[in-house]
Amino acid sequence: MPAPLLQIETTPTLPEAADVVVIGGGIVGVFAAWYLARRGVRVALVEKGRIAAEQSSRNWGWCRQQNRDARELPIAMESLALWQRLAGEIGEDVGFRRCGLLYLSDDEAEIETWARWRDVARSFGLTTCVLSADEASARGTATGRRWKGGVFSPSDGIADPASAGPIVARGILAAGGSVHQMCAARGLEIEGGRVCGVVTEAGTIRTRTVVLAAGAWASAFCRQLGIRFPQASVRASILAVGPGSQGLPDALHTSAVSVTRRGDGGYTLAISGRGQIDPTPQKLRFAREFVPMFARRWRALAPGGLEGWRAGFETLGQWRRDAPSPMERRRILDPTPDKRQIRETHQRACRLLPALQGVPIAAAWAGYIDSTPDGIPAIGEVQGMPGLVLAAGFSGHGFGIGPGAGHLIADLISGARPLVDPLPYRPERLATSAWGKVAEF
Ligand SMILES: Cc1cc2nc3c(=O)[nH]c(=O)nc-3n(C[C@H](O)[C@H](O)[C@H](O)COP(=O)(O)OP(=O)(O)OC[C@H]3O[C@@H](n4cnc5c(N)ncnc54)[C@H](O)[C@@H]3O)c2cc1C
Repeated sequence: MPAPLLQIETTPTLPEAADVVVIGGGIVGVFAAWYLARRGVRVALVEKGRIAAEQSSRNWGWCRQQNRDARELPIAMESLALWQRLAGEIGEDVGFRRCGLLYLSDDEAEIETWARWRDVARSFGLTTCVLSADEASARGTATGRRWKGGVFSPSDGIADPASAGPIVARGILAAGGSVHQMCAARGLEIEGGRVCGVVTEAGTIRTRTVVLAAGAWASAFCRQLGIRFPQASVRASILAVGPGSQGLPDALHTSAVSVTRRGDGGYTLAISGRGQIDPTPQKLRFAREFVPMFARRWRALAPGGLEGWRAGFETLGQWRRDAPSPMERRRILDPTPDKRQIRETHQRACRLLPALQGVPIAAAWAGYIDSTPDGIPAIGEVQGMPGLVLAAGFSGHGFGIGPGAGHLIADLISGARPLVDPLPYRPERLATSAWGKVAEF
């Protein structure tokens, strides 16, 4: 069974023109369009499949400041505040709760790293509680054992990946924008060196500003325009168990397994950082750029198969704008979960949390996590292509920072004071090597 997702009705007919067209209805695209629509900007969002059907409904739902790289912490902090306000602004519950995130460990080096991060947190005015062995064991009673230490971040939280994206998309419609599902953007029209339209499978929308929030497809789309965007993906496999377990923390990380309470009372189970690398033409092309990232993360990664190659999202090919594109052939990236990893994750979770034993697996799925070489997203206007704002490469953090990213994009486009300093995210930084710059956590 695939990741649960709220299905919504959207706008049947495409506008002829819009102030801004957002390509991609993941969490980043919907928040960008929503913050624009709320400012009275005429915005149209086009999504080749269903809203949030790729990464944005397949994640754990963590909205995390804890252990964030200092470059991403400001946008993570602002995002938590925006998540908090969202239900009141949009009039629907997206499952957001500041329940706090709990980290438990027996590894002294790991505990030491978390303790060091407390200094980063302090310098940003953020509270994080480093837990002694007694405190960690008390918070982790559901595990029925003692721990050497841990961390609790009280102001962090979780939201519901199954409904957040679709609910924000409904907010766009309510704010006067339009949302078009099953509508792939095939390319851009350029005049005098700047963007002047978006060619979709349903027709062309005239516009001077485009937000490319295409997730794992962004680099291939950029390639059609001669823009180099180094991006690579990892296939992560996770599962959900149904409701029924009592006394578990809402969000718990251990090196063995991580557990997150879902909106329906069930739990998402996953092994943090674990993933498979499916070789693709794009990965081969950008292999050199990703060596620094791979050097840090290789222990958790395993070689995958040719599914990613066949899926076409990391193609080096050019496609035509007057014929069906790879995006129409693959409406939703729905990679096969790794069965062995699913089994291992479930076994580890049942060993860690006895209350999960006997609770059946409700669903298992995989998602391609798109990353930049330094693990920090690319947000900003593309140099040499006025009117094109890139917002991709969220490197496994995009759900939590989706509101902040969307707000920042709306600020950059409307000329408002940016929510956070946009400098760390500028796409042109990716032209230089990532050695020494890979995000800490
Ligand atoms: C297993 C897993 C666990 C994760 N856990 C977390 C977590 O706990 N917390 C966290 O913050 N992040 C987490 N993430 C990462 C997070 O899900 C992503 O960073 C985030 O969802 C990216 O959002 P996005 O909008 O950039 O991309 P996506 O959600 O991938 O959306 C991009 C959309 O663009 C559409 N599209 C692409 N090309 C076109 C085109 N040409 N025309 C029209 N539409 C197009 C696609 O169909 C897709 O819907 C996790 C990811 C996975 C897979």
